Amino acid sequence: MIELETPPKRTPPAPPASLEHRRLRDGAFWHALPHYAGIDEATFLDHHWQARNSVKTPEELFETISAVVDDAFIADARQGFEHAPMAVRVSPYLLASIDWSQPYTDPIRRQFIPLLSTARADHPRLTLDSLHEQEDSPVPGLIHRYADKALFLPLQTCPVYCRFCTRSYAIGPDTAGVDKLELGKTPDSWAPVFAYVAAHPEIEDIVISGGDAYQLAPKNITLIGEALLAIPHVRRMRFATKGLAVMPMKILTDQPWVDALVGVVDHGRAMGKEVVLHTHFNHPNEISAITERAMDVLFKRGVYVRNQTVLMRGVNDDAATMLLLVKRLEYINIHPYYVYMHDLVSGVEDLRTSVQTALDIEKAVRGATAGYNTPTFICDAPGGGGKRDVHSFEWYDRDTGVSVWTAPSVKPGKYFLYFDPLNTLTPTMQTRWSVPELQDRMIADALAHAGGTVAALA
Ligand SMILES: *Cc1c(COP(=O)(O)O)cnc(C)c1O
Ligand code: SF4
Repeated sequence: MIELETPPKRTPPAPPASLEHRRLRDGAFWHALPHYAGIDEATFLDHHWQARNSVKTPEELFETISAVVDDAFIADARQGFEHAPMAVRVSPYLLASIDWSQPYTDPIRRQFIPLLSTARADHPRLTLDSLHEQEDSPVPGLIHRYADKALFLPLQTCPVYCRFCTRSYAIGPDTAGVDKLELGKTPDSWAPVFAYVAAHPEIEDIVISGGDAYQLAPKNITLIGEALLAIPHVRRMRFATKGLAVMPMKILTDQPWVDALVGVVDHGRAMGKEVVLHTHFNHPNEISAITERAMDVLFKRGVYVRNQTVLMRGVNDDAATMLLLVKRLEYINIHPYYVYMHDLVSGVEDLRTSVQTALDIEKAVRGATAGYNTPTFICDAPGGGGKRDVHSFEWYDRDTGVSVWTAPSVKPGKYFLYFDPLNTLTPTMQTRWSVPELQDRMIADALAHAGGTVAALA
């Protein structure tokens, strides 16, 4: 018998795509935009410079990008802004992260700069405060919807304004040229919130959102953090900020802000309480070597960071992009927590996706990496049902685009509806939605299949 020589075992090289998440934009990438060609690294990393130079009017924006886009694009965007529900505010970091050779399809452009040419008619059942947050607000600035947790909105400004903001009814606008970086509401206006939380022993978990915690002055991070830590039954807190995704350099150059945050985190830990940061990345291009350095600071100082993403058409609604985002986030020690279905917000119908898209992408993502880094895909049930796993609908009609949801632990006995965007339905179906009686029938049919009634709608 002949012994065959076994070939030496060799690990095949990793396919390049599997390492793509580690390739982070580095160097002076902002020099590609002529408006920032003379900006050195120290200036670009200065958070004051970023805030001061964030564009706050359409005209400032057009001036900044005039060398890289044509007149047709500017005319399209000018008309887009005329119809948009949100004020404009975009950081130099984001403007420099857009691929201006592809201004129509770039995923960051799509989130911050509206175009008239891609605008789509709202679904007839859209309302402005689709989450009905006002109804669950016992004192101004606090939303208490779930028994053991509450959402505190201490201010109304953000470092940027997203086209798709769920709180477009409340957030911004900001006056041109006025830097509100250090302005929130006055701490006096927060006292009733602290009093309410103190009087409700069932509340263990506070989300401090906004607006955006990046806009809170260091002394107010400390004031809010300490006031809540001092309430014995408060066990967990999350400061929410989009800042890491839109202005990561603040973590590198705003030492007082980072120190204030770390101070609250450390004090909480010493008391046996968890204080973390929640952030909001939507596309892998939002993560650069600057983000990696910022996360290195936070990680080494013991600040745990979780991410919430909004699923958006043309931004992250394909499995490859979502996978790259998840891998890139976990690579820099950010835990992907949620991917939200886009809320039923007016004026951004071009960004919404169908429930089916969320189901498909979830299936593609789950299993690709650690389970604890696999986000849960959710639909924040319109009408105040709260966040539901996208797979948990009671009924989903792919033809009419109507899905029916229940939330037994939040609003028992109630039914909630989500509507796929009209322009993802067949032309026949789109015509049906233009007739009010047919709308009512499609909704009643879906509710009947789900075992509910129109009377039980939230
Ligand atoms: C999202 C949200 C929370 C926090 O919910 P989690 O699922 O724990 O992240 C709390 N209150 C309100 C009103 C919310 O919308
Ligand atoms: S950062 Fe958040 S709250 Fe502010 S505009 Fe964007 S989505 Fe809205």
